[in-house]
Amino acid sequence: MNIYSLSRKDLENYFESIGEKKFKALQTYDWLYKKRVNSFDEMTNIKKEIIEKLKKDFTIDKPEIVKVQNGKDVHKYLFNLKDGEKIEAVLMNHDYGNSLCVSTQVGCNMGCAFCESGRLKKRRNLSVDEMVTQILLVEENLKIRISHVVLMGIGEPFDNYDNVMKFIDIINDDNGIAIGARHITVSTCGIVPKIKEFTKEKKQVNLAISMHAPNDELRSKIMNINKAYPLKEVIDAVKDYLKANNRKVTFEYIMLKDINDKEKYAIELSHLLKGLNCYVNLIPYNETSHIEFKKSDSKVVMKFYDILKKNKINVTVRREFGSEVEAACGQLRSNYKEEI
Ligand code: SAH
Repeated sequence: MNIYSLSRKDLENYFESIGEKKFKALQTYDWLYKKRVNSFDEMTNIKKEIIEKLKKDFTIDKPEIVKVQNGKDVHKYLFNLKDGEKIEAVLMNHDYGNSLCVSTQVGCNMGCAFCESGRLKKRRNLSVDEMVTQILLVEENLKIRISHVVLMGIGEPFDNYDNVMKFIDIINDDNGIAIGARHITVSTCGIVPKIKEFTKEKKQVNLAISMHAPNDELRSKIMNINKAYPLKEVIDAVKDYLKANNRKVTFEYIMLKDINDKEKYAIELSHLLKGLNCYVNLIPYNETSHIEFKKSDSKVVMKFYDILKKNKINVTVRREFGSEVEAACGQLRSNYKEEI
């Protein structure tokens, strides 16, 4: 097992199981996440025999960075995983800090019609360490601190639920990478049973729902998942989440030209979300060469925005980022075979 997959509690249990004191977990965390060593041998305040035991029980390696593409305020990373699979992560420099968009799976099975990442069917879930080390590698490569993490890279986080929950615990740990819960956002296309499970976790992280249409007929056309979990179930699950957690929910809404950007849909969306503690993030669609959808004109986006606003729905338009290096939302992919 890779040591970056362990929460501090797991490490405490491990040390107790080998007859050592729990606080060794804290020391180990300090080496891994504060001092950022790359080998067990560098953990110089830990006894030699324990180091040997750690070496026997764990690995400490990270994926390799195969390629970095730099754009304005954006850096796209391609990683090679141990088994040769490829994933991407994207670092964005905002005025409020550095935000990393992390991948959670190799490929994706959700089958959203507009998304590049889903063109490669899911090959496997990422392990916890494969998610944690995306952050470590980018911080090390750019010599920066990441302040925000969004789980919006390749994959559906709630289709890799247990690993994603542990990943959140590890990066949120004050003695680990220490990214504040409110600076972490998990985005789902709407897997209702997992939204319900997530509600019970009582995590202070942000929840975002990929909405993209205000009714089942349209949503089912562009998002397969809607056939399994229709909108009413998603909204009901969000209502329960809001009752249990005092956190605002984000609804993401990609603006697809002549598909979901009509004024009547803005009105329908306003009715659907009325009274919910939420805001809508309108996302200018990033066109990709393999998919026929087009982005809405900015005038149309602004009209949609105005209608939501007039109906007292909190709304923002997402800043466009990274399309010059195909690092924008929905442009990440695992399938690099055609290029290499
Ligand atoms: N699977 C998760 C998280 C990954 S996608 C989810 O569906 O929420 C992150 C966001 O980018 C989602 O809202 C997704 O629908 C959106 N997206 C996908 N393709 C896009 C594209 N080409 N342009 C803009 N946003 C896109």
